Amino acid sequence: MRNYSVGIDIGGTSAKFGVVGHDCRILCRRSFVTSGTMDQGQMIDFIVSGIGTILHACGLTPGDIETVGIGVPGTVRYGRGIVESSPNFPTWQGFRMKEELTDRLPLQIAVDNDAEMAAVGERLAGAAARYDNFVLVTIGTGIGGAVYANGRAVRGRDGTAGEIGHIVVEPRGRRCGCGSSGCVEMYASARAIVRYYRAHSRDNSEGITAEEVYRRAIARDPSAQYAFHRMGWYLGVAMTDVVNLLNPEALLFTGKVSRAGRFFLPTVKTVVDERAFRLPARGIVYRRGKLGDDAAIIGAACRARH
Ligand SMILES: [Zn+2]
Repeated sequence: MRNYSVGIDIGGTSAKFGVVGHDCRILCRRSFVTSGTMDQGQMIDFIVSGIGTILHACGLTPGDIETVGIGVPGTVRYGRGIVESSPNFPTWQGFRMKEELTDRLPLQIAVDNDAEMAAVGERLAGAAARYDNFVLVTIGTGIGGAVYANGRAVRGRDGTAGEIGHIVVEPRGRRCGCGSSGCVEMYASARAIVRYYRAHSRDNSEGITAEEVYRRAIARDPSAQYAFHRMGWYLGVAMTDVVNLLNPEALLFTGKVSRAGRFFLPTVKTVVDERAFRLPARGIVYRRGKLGDDAAIIGAACRARH
C-alpha cells in the first residue's frame, strides 16, 4: 500500500527530508548538508539518494511511497515544476526539477517555492487550518511569503506572487539581492537583527547570530530587545501594506527568527494598528506557525497528494 509521501525542504546549507503519513504526521526524518555550489545534476542525484536513505531508515520500500514534494528557495513555476532561479543556488536557471526527477522516480512529484509549501502545511495541519484569508511570512536569512485569499493560494500569472520580503520599506535604502533597494528583507531578517544589535550595543565581537541576540533578549539585554523592536517596526511597515491590500484574518510567522516572536510581534501589531485602515487591522490574529521547521516538509509531502 502506498501510504506515505516524502517531503523535502531544500535550503542553502541543509535539506530536510521527512516521510509523512496520510495524517500529515512525520514518521521519520533526516537532514543532509547542501551547498550553494551544487549544480542541477548534483541536486537530482542528491534528492534521489536522500529518498533512498530515508526509506531505508524508516524500514520502507519505494512501493510504500505515493508522492514526493520538494520545497525550493527561489522562484518556481509550480505548475511545471521549473525552478526559474534560486538565490542560494546560482547555477539553477530554468532547472526542470520535476521533469528530471520524474525520469528517475516513477512517482507523482510536486515542486514549489518553500514558503508556499510551508503555507500548505500550516493550512492542512497547523495554525492556518481555520483561515481562508491569511498570509504566511517566513523569516530567516531572507524573508519569504505565501498568500491565501478566499481559501485559495494566490499565485499570479507565473506563480511568483507572495514575495513579501521585497516590499520596499526604505525607497533609498540598502541594496537588496533582488536588484531593488530598501526591501524589508534587508531590514527585518536575521542579518538585520544582528546589525541592529551591534550598532546599539557597540559589541562587535565575532560570531553573534540572530539566535544569540534572541538568547540575550531573553536575558533582558536592552540592546537585544531593541534589535527585535527595530526589526518588528520595519516588518510592521511591510505588514501594513499587506493588510491594506489583502484584508487577511491572520498573519502567520514561521522560519527560524519567528521563534523570537514575543520580542517583535507586539511591535508589528502596534505599527499595523497605527498605520493600516482601521477595519482590516481590527481583530487580525498575529501568531507563529504551529509546525515550526516541519511546515515545508509536511506541506511538500501533502501538496503532491492534493
Ligand atoms: Zn529585494
